[in-house]
Amino acid sequence: MGFLTGKRALIVGLATDRSIAWGIAQAMHAQGAELAFTHIERMTDRVVPLARTLGSDITFVMDVASDADIDKGFESLRGRWPAFDILVHAVAFAPKEALTGEFISATTRENFQTAHDISSYSLTALARASRPFMKDRHGAIVALSYLGAVRSIPSYNVMGLAKASLEANVRFLAADLGPEGTRVNAISAGPVKTLSAAGIPGFRKMLAHVASTNPLRRNVTLADVGNAAAFLCSDLASGVTGEVLYVDGGFHTVGMSFPAEDAAG
Ligand code: NAD
Repeated sequence: MGFLTGKRALIVGLATDRSIAWGIAQAMHAQGAELAFTHIERMTDRVVPLARTLGSDITFVMDVASDADIDKGFESLRGRWPAFDILVHAVAFAPKEALTGEFISATTRENFQTAHDISSYSLTALARASRPFMKDRHGAIVALSYLGAVRSIPSYNVMGLAKASLEANVRFLAADLGPEGTRVNAISAGPVKTLSAAGIPGFRKMLAHVASTNPLRRNVTLADVGNAAAFLCSDLASGVTGEVLYVDGGFHTVGMSFPAEDAAG
């Protein structure tokens, strides 16, 4: 029997079988959770078959930038699940031009607003919509962050600010929802090659740098992130809330490190 047996998880942010949401869905399924998925319209043909492979026939379209979509989505979910235990927020977006070149030049009022709306405000909106479903069930919410929330990273630009907002969002939601038994945490994942990550210039270099200098000397996998999310959303983590858990092979803990070939010199 898995440690999520009897739990229901709503997963927001599945696009492909490379998505972090897919790693989380697989890990939660392996631990016995029942799953439901939301996705954007143009990913329907990819998400519906993926959901089926994990035994889920609950999939619906929801653009997190639209209050009407959020209301409609949760209303349709109510017909299948009157309650659930886990909300996974694995959604982020910034226009491509915001992730190119210098932060100071690339950041406009408009792309700042878009990045914060879709990548951070959506967590508040989804937590509010989930609240009546999750109340008093010892459930958990998990969001996906990145080191750019607390350090400057080339090209990550305005997404770093949006992730800082997301991490603050986690702490404020944890304070509001803790008294009714819901925990709220984030995972700050190391770089993983997904559809969104492919939009960040120099992403391959980033992967190579991290793998050659972090303590584990490798990039993290979807399973690494998925298993950590399954743990955080389970009763095994019942005392953990408002936290950012780094799943990055220890990269953020290192002050200085040389790739093996340079270390001898
Ligand atoms: P992904 O492209 O597989 O997933 C991003 C998801 O966001 C997609 O499903 C996309 O459809 C969804 N999305 C974008 N705009 C949306 C909108 N308006 N409404 C609804 N959904 C929308 O990429 P991923 O890397 O798996 O990203 C998942 C999360 O993990 C993001 O928060 C990302 O910032 C975070 N993260 C990624 C990495 C990485 O290196 N890949 C590292 C740390 C954190």
